[in-house]
Amino acid sequence: MRIAIVGGGISGLSLAYYLRKAHPLAKIDLYEKEERLGGVIDSITEEVFFFEKGPRTFLTKKSCELLTLMGELGLEDQIIYADNKANTRYIWTGDTKLKVPTTLFEAIRSPLTKGMFKSLITEWSRPTICEDESIEQFFNRRIGCSLTESLIRPMVYGIYGADISELSIKHTFSKLKDFEINNGSLTAGLLTQKRKKRPMGSLFTVKLGLTHFIHKLSKKSDARIYLNESIDKISQNESFVKVETSLQQEEYDYLFSTLDKSIKKTSITVWNVGYKSGVTLPDAFGILVKNPTNLLGIVFDSKIFPTQNRSREETRLTVMTKNSAVLIEDRLERLLGIKKKPDFLVVKEYNNALFRPQVGHKKEKKRDRRIHYFSSNTHSKVSVPDIVKEAKKYVETLVL
Ligand SMILES: Cc1cc2nc3c(=O)[nH]c(=O)nc-3n(C[C@H](O)[C@H](O)[C@H](O)COP(=O)(O)OP(=O)(O)OC[C@H]3O[C@@H](n4cnc5c(N)ncnc54)[C@H](O)[C@@H]3O)c2cc1C
Repeated sequence: MRIAIVGGGISGLSLAYYLRKAHPLAKIDLYEKEERLGGVIDSITEEVFFFEKGPRTFLTKKSCELLTLMGELGLEDQIIYADNKANTRYIWTGDTKLKVPTTLFEAIRSPLTKGMFKSLITEWSRPTICEDESIEQFFNRRIGCSLTESLIRPMVYGIYGADISELSIKHTFSKLKDFEINNGSLTAGLLTQKRKKRPMGSLFTVKLGLTHFIHKLSKKSDARIYLNESIDKISQNESFVKVETSLQQEEYDYLFSTLDKSIKKTSITVWNVGYKSGVTLPDAFGILVKNPTNLLGIVFDSKIFPTQNRSREETRLTVMTKNSAVLIEDRLERLLGIKKKPDFLVVKEYNNALFRPQVGHKKEKKRDRRIHYFSSNTHSKVSVPDIVKEAKKYVETLVL
């Protein structure tokens, strides 16, 4: 059997891996238009500071398949869990940073959670709406505007880089929407959840960098990798799919495309900033911004995964902005009191990179005869653990 995969990001590579497992003798070719694999996954490993430019942390409780996959690739020793400090987050309100409460006592006193208890107690009496709606409409209805503004909007900006008024609740917090529909309220739904023991740490990553994971994954999938080969044309008939690049044309029995040009995606700019010494950060995961104009948040990399630090004195942080028209040093001084010039600064603009599931978004049909579509458009997932999980499920239910 001859299989072609288009796109060498985590979607294409995890498909290649699970297809190889299911079809050990298949000829699998993977086409990537850039000169390297990984897509938005890209680690800086050769410099004075270690950084991830794209994704960096994965939620342990949502990563069963990803952790199993990493185990199958022999990466157990490389998995590092976030320091407990990463459980603390701050929110920048415009003139000060407030700690997001993590205990009942803190929640009672924090301005961020003002009115929370009243909202939760009365939440069961709010009407249920089964149709899709925006995250903003959903939370305003269920927990009130104040909590939505102070907690939900900054948090969603930190994940999707987009506003809660645009995004679909069904495709982002589907579990919470299900609680409303099936249990009548979020509080009732949460109470029916079995409490799982907190695993090693709530977040993890790969110590040597996620490109190390990508390298291992591509090796194990035993696919023939064509780099610098953009697919120009795909056509099919009853017997085969034809793939044309600027360099060659090939025929396959099946093609898996991980591209989804037709949907709206959010652009985001990522700034990796390093200081050799003399900068102190709060013990936390980072800061989110309450009403972001351009700055979306700052991640304190050197606090989350200190084992990736190359010296005791260094400070590493990553700033996320909507675009590059921002004075980063000015923001770092305002939010964190950092007056020093960075010793290291790398900027990367990700254009149309983050899936933006809008209200009413419908998953696309998955298959057109010999062409399979596997992308955020078909499965509505954004995170790396979710994509790996979907790829596994997709291949397991596939009859070729
Ligand atoms: C800045 C940033 C931070 C993130 N942080 C996290 C995080 O901390 N945790 C998390 O779980 N998720 C995170 N995500 C989300 C997650 O990283 C992405 O959703 C996921 O990696 C997307 O993988 P993909 O393979 O679908 O797409 P991509 O990574 O975009 O890969 C698509 C590939 O297809 C190639 N391609 C495009 N056109 C063609 C063509 N015509 N022919 C051949 N190849 C082509 C591209 O060059 C690219 O390599 C983050 C995303 C971004 C942008």
